[in-house]
Amino acid sequence: MITRRIASGWPQRLCSGAVVAATLIAARGHSDETPSPLKAATEQATAAASPQEPPPAKKLFKGKVVKTHEAIKRRGVKAYPEELKNQVALETTDELIPILPDWRGRAFYQDERLRDRDVELIGFRRSGLPYLNVLAVYTFDDKGRRHYTDYWCDICSIPMYEIKPCDCCQEEIRLRSEPQELSKDIAPK
Ligand SMILES: [Zn+2]
Repeated sequence: MITRRIASGWPQRLCSGAVVAATLIAARGHSDETPSPLKAATEQATAAASPQEPPPAKKLFKGKVVKTHEAIKRRGVKAYPEELKNQVALETTDELIPILPDWRGRAFYQDERLRDRDVELIGFRRSGLPYLNVLAVYTFDDKGRRHYTDYWCDICSIPMYEIKPCDCCQEEIRLRSEPQELSKDIAPK
């Protein structure tokens, strides 16, 4: 299973990239202690809108992730495509839900192999926000079998969730998909 691979992958290698990154973050945090009005305002705004409460229950969302401007055009709505050109959304049978470009949703912005195909996404929407927070991605092969889909470094045997050099060895990673059923506790949206 995937969890076992993560657990067994990490201790086998000393991941120097991660150590460097952690050191950089620590150094940056230390030098950024001067209070500034912008920082205070940002913190205040973040606190006001902050998702401090636990995220809503995970649900299953089905559809295709598409370029927002193309989906809007198909509906006969006019909008300037250049303003929307990077946006992607999950097109379900009754809705267009923008994908939050965070650690998991970003792959849909980066990787056209994940777009314009049937997907099932486990995720949630926070109240007052239109975005879908994606937590897990399932695609389907040509026989209709469901595959859990992420990225994988063959050298380090670790999963990743967006296109970038491997966190550990900095080499190229690959899109990975493995047959997997949904867990039974996931409710449709
Ligand atoms: Zn690697």
